[in-house]
Amino acid sequence: MKIAVLAGDGIGPEITQQAERVIAALASDGLKLETEHAPVGGAGYDAAGDPLPEATLRLCEQSDAILFGAVGGPKYDALPRPKRPEQGLLRLRKHFDLFANLRPATVFPELAHASTLRPEIVAGLDILILRELTGDIYFGQPRGIRTNEAGEREGFDTMRYSEGEIRRIAQLAFEAARKRNRRVCSVDKANVLETTQLWRDVVTELHAQYADVELTHMYVDNAAMQLVRNPKQFDVIVTGNMFGDILSDEASMLTGSIGMLPSASLNAKRFGMYEPIHGSAPDIAGKGVANPLATILSLAMLLRHSLDQEAAAARIEAAVRKVLAQGLRTGDIAEPGKRTVGTREMGDAVIAAL
Ligand code: NAD
Repeated sequence: MKIAVLAGDGIGPEITQQAERVIAALASDGLKLETEHAPVGGAGYDAAGDPLPEATLRLCEQSDAILFGAVGGPKYDALPRPKRPEQGLLRLRKHFDLFANLRPATVFPELAHASTLRPEIVAGLDILILRELTGDIYFGQPRGIRTNEAGEREGFDTMRYSEGEIRRIAQLAFEAARKRNRRVCSVDKANVLETTQLWRDVVTELHAQYADVELTHMYVDNAAMQLVRNPKQFDVIVTGNMFGDILSDEASMLTGSIGMLPSASLNAKRFGMYEPIHGSAPDIAGKGVANPLATILSLAMLLRHSLDQEAAAARIEAAVRKVLAQGLRTGDIAEPGKRTVGTREMGDAVIAAL
């Protein structure tokens, strides 16, 4: 199984290096994993004048999954838009039709104090948000700003989902729930929006094939409230692009620690790109202090969702839990009485715990 490692910019190389050490440790235990590197983002521009060089894309096509660090930095801010680092990310999403964005929001009990919510509300939180990434009002046509009959400007967008687009994300949600606590909450606004009435109908129809998974529906306004009132009621949340955009950011902030959260973007063949939700953190790049755990947890997602290696994924997650329980913290999650360590030492500890 081949993993393309696109480290990118800023802290990208430091954090992916620790994930690669975890891969090497798993490989030495017999898992058939290999990695190959290629530049992306600003590093791609520096190497080949393009944030997604042809050779990088070719490597991704020949691999089973992509592990992505982060891209961007002040050095590249003045480049024309097509050359900007984030274009590398957007073009990869488009090229591989990565329509499903998986964002877990997990609060390790040891880090519950980092949340802005009371620890008892979030301790042990473990939700997975599936956001549809390529449809909805963000892409629907027609759209624009025009002058209406009264001579006033008006803006308009089109919310649109086809049955097939809804079915493929709902299917992923049910399948992901089978690997978790077998509960899916589909979020819509079916009381007001026709598009999301269809969403609700299609999800309900598909549910017949997943009778072992519990399905509930919730209106998005209520979901936004329930996420801060009692987030632990959720297992898997599946929703459209716009609602998912908002709810996944809300959910990630329940945890309060950006350096801990992984993510995945998948296509219909379960090929995916796995990356921490944070950026390239130029303010701490090169200092050896970045938290590598979001990237290491992204690797666990990669093993689970693209390579079907559930046991290895669970092993990595257990190792991370153990290291936190041992009291090791990087600067972003530092607390009095715990030992603050750097990027490499955190990697060492995870490998020892593995
Ligand atoms: P950021 O996520 O890079 O950093 C925000 C803050 O969180 C910073 O103080 C940073 O030091 C801290 N932080 C982030 N990750 C950390 C980690 N692993 N360990 C410890 N601390 C961490 O967001 P930003 O500062 O708004 O953006 C910086 C650059 O990253 C920009 O060029 C932006 O475009 C880019 N960016 C890239 C991605 C991506 O590659 N997917 C996502 C967001 C931002």
